[in-house]
Amino acid sequence: MDLVERQNDVVRVRFAPSPTGHLHVGGARTALYNYLYARKNSGVFVLRIEDTDAARSTRESYEGILRGLRWLGLEWDEGPDIDGPYGPYVQSARSVLYHSEADRLLREGKAYRCFCAAAELDAMRAAQEARGEAPKYDGRCRSLGETEIEERLAAGVPSVVRFAMPRDGETRFRDVVRGDFSFGNAELDDFVLIKSDGRPTYNYAVVVDDAHMRISHVIRGDDHISNTPRQVRLYDALGYRLPKFAHLPMILGADKTRLSKRHGATSVDAYRDLHYLSEAMVNYLALLGWSFDGKRELFSFKALIEAFSLKRVSSNPAVFDIAKMEWINAEHFKMLPPAEKLELVAEALEEEGLLPPAFEVDLSRPVDLKLVAGKEPLRIDAIDAAKKGFARELPRLALIIEALGNRLKLLRDVRELMGYFYTDDFARDETAVRNHLASKEAASRLEALARAYEDLQYFDRPSVEETLRALADRLGLQSGELIHPCRVALTGKTVSPDIFWVIVLLGKAKTVERLRAAAANAPIPPAAKEG
Ligand code: GLU
Repeated sequence: MDLVERQNDVVRVRFAPSPTGHLHVGGARTALYNYLYARKNSGVFVLRIEDTDAARSTRESYEGILRGLRWLGLEWDEGPDIDGPYGPYVQSARSVLYHSEADRLLREGKAYRCFCAAAELDAMRAAQEARGEAPKYDGRCRSLGETEIEERLAAGVPSVVRFAMPRDGETRFRDVVRGDFSFGNAELDDFVLIKSDGRPTYNYAVVVDDAHMRISHVIRGDDHISNTPRQVRLYDALGYRLPKFAHLPMILGADKTRLSKRHGATSVDAYRDLHYLSEAMVNYLALLGWSFDGKRELFSFKALIEAFSLKRVSSNPAVFDIAKMEWINAEHFKMLPPAEKLELVAEALEEEGLLPPAFEVDLSRPVDLKLVAGKEPLRIDAIDAAKKGFARELPRLALIIEALGNRLKLLRDVRELMGYFYTDDFARDETAVRNHLASKEAASRLEALARAYEDLQYFDRPSVEETLRALADRLGLQSGELIHPCRVALTGKTVSPDIFWVIVLLGKAKTVERLRAAAANAPIPPAAKEG
């Protein structure tokens, strides 16, 4: 296998997570940039699991990372579950390769066995620190003779394989994002390639794998810049062709320190659970370190693939701004086709325990879904079969969504904005109740309205509006004097979509019941007097 000649310079990129925790915003951004670069350049996106740290790697984390990537829509072409020409794609299954390449380095004198015990290394470090030197392995095992090595191996003395770093000269590399780097080799140590338990270290395995998997571009977080010179030396020693490097800028929290748990949710799962749209999250992640023209910020997934380039990745740290992500989410939500919106809202209501509804509502006329969906015909039967349990509810839900219009921006607000359509146990704004319901007048007006609605034959929007206005006239009131208490009685709030739609969509029985309940509870003892 000649790894110096790479075939036709096909773009092959990889995301290489260690399965030691959640898929974080930073990791997801790295995965996304790799994915976009691959798709833009008709390349291949590889997922490789770096589980050399056996103690910290877990199955749970592995599954979580795959789930997160899939949720974001970042499907890989080769990976642990999709075999390809250069697999397996899990490092723990590749140890034969790491050992054969290490043997080659040992034979060629580019690596050596080190038998130093932990106590000896500690003493070395202490002595160096006492002399004011930066601690590093001093290379004492480099000069061991062949017989000495054989004897120790035969005696079963534990050993590691270390890289024989050139003692002088410089290591240079060019980074697509950050420009040229140069490190003095004297500053780099004889780092370990194979640990005493036979496992490879990160710096070693990553180079062997990137070369053998024909990776053309290594796109990763800039916390790996300091590892890169060691890796470059290894490429050289192993006779591999160097990939291009692109190190992505760090992601900071609002206080300009590195993004961490202190700043709130950092895992992709958390944002999924908060009902963010995956496409909005992808859009926002793309902006963390990349810009199209410094102006345009809204992108569909498809548009991102078209627009993305490594040239426009910034070397300055990016700041994670949750308000901006919310705005992007709201914009994506607005643009969703009605059927998709309906499905997502139904899903969110289901997760909130609001679907199936606590009570059934029979709308007085069958709902014409074509009317609801505007230009696009809405096919309820296209919606996930799992939702069939409440399929009967979907036409009403479509109308509720329509009535809410742009008020509904974030799926996580479904309970707040539409809970009262689905349960009697909805939040009531205490001030609104006090101001609008806590009086004898309010009680008698609500009772009169309940009676008028009870007698109404067609409970459609024109009829409910006409009835309320006629009653207001009869009582010598402004319509608002009936509308305000009615709104609070039905929704618990002073703001809602068009009240007549709310009435129609709650249905006659529920509307009358809530108006009566509010009338029965009034007058509520007034709150402590102000002033
Ligand atoms: N497993 C490494 C990490 O999760 C990958 C680094 C790399 O892309 O080289 O940080």
